[in-house]
Amino acid sequence: MVLRREIFRCSNCGLENGVISFGFEFGGYGYMTGRNESGTKFCILELIGNATYEEFCKLYEEECGDGDIIRMQRMFAIACDPIDGCRVSFTAKPRVCSGCGSDEFEPVLRSEPADDIEYFEVSYTTWNSLDIEAKRLLIKEAYNKTV
Ligand SMILES: [Zn+2]
Repeated sequence: MVLRREIFRCSNCGLENGVISFGFEFGGYGYMTGRNESGTKFCILELIGNATYEEFCKLYEEECGDGDIIRMQRMFAIACDPIDGCRVSFTAKPRVCSGCGSDEFEPVLRSEPADDIEYFEVSYTTWNSLDIEAKRLLIKEAYNKTV
């Protein structure tokens, strides 16, 4: 997998902003990407054959059962160990210009390698050390906090 920075030009002030994108060999199916909350580190996780994810989905359905896959996937962050001391998030950050704060962009047909951005594999050490009731409780709490 290659991280690239796609360039967008702000329609308001003309500043070029880089947006990190993930290049996937197989189109990204079965993968989920996230970042830490400070937005400096990225992570990738494989969903297919991921025992922690499967268990999480099963418990989510039993506890919450709303069939909302997007919400479930975002909430899966609670099962992930922090990256670099920062919590993992699967919620997309709104894209705004770093110069003027505008959210209107023109695409620029250019991208560059983002070698300076690190990404990590996600681990679930803390989650896996919990018993099933503690996991259920965490899911319920997180569910009540998300909108
Ligand atoms: Zn701007």
